[in-house]
Amino acid sequence: MNRRQFLSGGLALSIGGAGPSLAEDGIPVADMHVHLFFPGVIPGRNTPLVPLRRTMEAGGLKLLGWSLVGDLPWIRSASGRLRQSGVPDGEAALDWLKIELARVKAHLEAQDLKVALTPADIDRAIAGEPHVVLSVEGASFLDGHPENLQAAYDMGVRHVQFVHYVRNDLGDIQTEKPEHGGLTASGRETVAACNSLGILIDLAHATGKVVEDVLSVSKAPVVWSHSALATGRTPDWTRPMPFARHLGVDHAKAIADKGGVIGLWGLRSDAGPGPEGYARKLAQMAGVLGDAHVGIGTDSGALASPAVTAGADMRRVVQHLLGQGLPRESVEKIAMGNYARVLKAALTPAV
Ligand SMILES: [Zn+2]
Repeated sequence: MNRRQFLSGGLALSIGGAGPSLAEDGIPVADMHVHLFFPGVIPGRNTPLVPLRRTMEAGGLKLLGWSLVGDLPWIRSASGRLRQSGVPDGEAALDWLKIELARVKAHLEAQDLKVALTPADIDRAIAGEPHVVLSVEGASFLDGHPENLQAAYDMGVRHVQFVHYVRNDLGDIQTEKPEHGGLTASGRETVAACNSLGILIDLAHATGKVVEDVLSVSKAPVVWSHSALATGRTPDWTRPMPFARHLGVDHAKAIADKGGVIGLWGLRSDAGPGPEGYARKLAQMAGVLGDAHVGIGTDSGALASPAVTAGADMRRVVQHLLGQGLPRESVEKIAMGNYARVLKAALTPAV
């Protein structure tokens, strides 16, 4: 038994030391969907932010989508579900985004981490220099104000998830009764604007109909950054969590057919108890969708007792993917290559 086989057996992973490192297998990781909340932003959570460089180094992360929750001030938690608690005006939501972006950028500067703004920056990340993609989950800042997309772009945002838990005028969300019948005219305009500016579109939290509508008009590949493939009934808003948040296999295949990527979140009930289960689930998804269309989107920071988080667990996930017999090239694509590929395509403005 060589060292790698020994490590992938899991025994060495759970005892002592820092665990496997990037130097060991040389396979970098990208996480499409990570939350870091500043103290006081979430009621009752006043713990200081864990410095991001340390997390990225522990996981061998070279690319990380830092997801700012664009509708956070208008969400409440009610009987195990997140629900809308107010109606943001697009301008108020843009103000909120500005506050978040300012402190995120200050942290990145203090950590000496670069923001990914161009396809060349993604190449630099691939070459080994860590970069952070500024991402927004829930585009309330565009509600009634499509022109705010340019403002967000100018502030460095390059990855926009159209919907989250608060309704907006772009399209329907998975967790509430549909009201738009899919993507709206404003949503269509936003797709075109993202394509021409060079912003990656994220469809997580959107209904299947929105997925179909966006795919029919987008000139660039898209991602579904975080959740898991549905195994039973097609997900809809009447289903309990987390089933309402799953992605139907047909819609996942449609995203893949257009060159996109589907990310697996770290939710225990979907990904299993730890890195080994998470790796097994990723490999299963690759079996269904192809190894070019699956990625990591842990949702770190937002999940209670997750199976994995964006730090050192990611090294174990890579080791387990290799240990499960996936070819190295497939592991490289799933671990980072796929998110990097769609980002490069989406960040290139479409004419
Ligand atoms: Zn989410």
